[in-house]
Amino acid sequence: MTRLEQINEIIESGGYPSYTLSQITHAVYKLGASDYTEIPNIPMKLRIKLKEKLGGILTLKNINEVKGGQAHKVLFETRDKERIEAVRMIFHPDDDIHESLCISSQSGCALGCTFCATGAVGFKKNLTEDEISDQILYFKINNLKISSISFMGMGEPFANPNLFEALKIITDPNFLGISPRRLSISTVGLIPGIKRLTKEFPQINLAFSLHSPFPNQRLEIMPITKAYPINNIFDALDEHIKETNKRVFIAYILLKGVNDSPEHAKEIIKIIKERGRLSYLYHVNLIRYHPGPTISQFEKPNKESVNRFMEIIKDAGTNCTLKQSFGIKIYAACGQLYAKYETKSAALNEVKAYPTKYVH
Ligand code: SF4
Repeated sequence: MTRLEQINEIIESGGYPSYTLSQITHAVYKLGASDYTEIPNIPMKLRIKLKEKLGGILTLKNINEVKGGQAHKVLFETRDKERIEAVRMIFHPDDDIHESLCISSQSGCALGCTFCATGAVGFKKNLTEDEISDQILYFKINNLKISSISFMGMGEPFANPNLFEALKIITDPNFLGISPRRLSISTVGLIPGIKRLTKEFPQINLAFSLHSPFPNQRLEIMPITKAYPINNIFDALDEHIKETNKRVFIAYILLKGVNDSPEHAKEIIKIIKERGRLSYLYHVNLIRYHPGPTISQFEKPNKESVNRFMEIIKDAGTNCTLKQSFGIKIYAACGQLYAKYETKSAALNEVKAYPTKYVH
């Protein structure tokens, strides 16, 4: 049962007026109340009942937190004891301050991309709509400003059937009320999810993680390519652009000696140019790979190859940006704090047996 359903049930069974629900949701989502007993304008008996039945307001508990420079990462535990991460990053574009929050949609992930710390964890669970939106609520309760939110933490958002309900809580003016234009969803290319987003939330920004333009190589590093081939994904992205007239971002993590060659850059250009008049609405975001605390077969690319890669794409007239990478010291890439925490816990507690997929 969701938080709203539970609150509704308590209100109805106690015979309270129906507007009580909006009083409670206003206090939770707008005023950032941190406890049900703090909610003003409702009877104390109801406040106590809510606390008794629902416990704390948040469905997540902060179990580890690391701050470093411009990044602040929180490891949360759900009530059923699974772990997820959220990272708040502060940018200073043009002397302005922009606080960006990166949240998770799943604990772990089943899709097994070979370069990804979350993929190495394996699938634990789909987050509920409350667990997804509570990552935002946590920062709100703690008075930490957020300018934009991206689903780039643990998990593939479109693989979670609760995602669209969570988006309603996040965007509905009666709840968190965040403008869809300030949200971004990053996907490895689950076409049904892309199509549903186009229809139901056309204003939400969309990013597609390509990571190799060559189907055989992409299949090797991202097994999901078998179910959703690159060409079919680009057809869905074209449709999204036609419907929304919005830019689509192509995320590309540069792995040294794997996908950072001029041939890869040229193939990306070729795919984008094939979009014809829509090609100018594709924007390539390059990300330099940083190995995490876990053993990895991949290495960070050197500056020269990154610059050369970007120049080739830009010279062809395609929009391309190198994303600022910070938070390396605090393991800000998705799944890295989780992996670090698990590894540390395993070392501290030799008695506890961890499945091999945790210890990498
Ligand atoms: S990159 Fe995304 S889809 Fe791939 S394993 Fe990691 S979390 Fe899952």
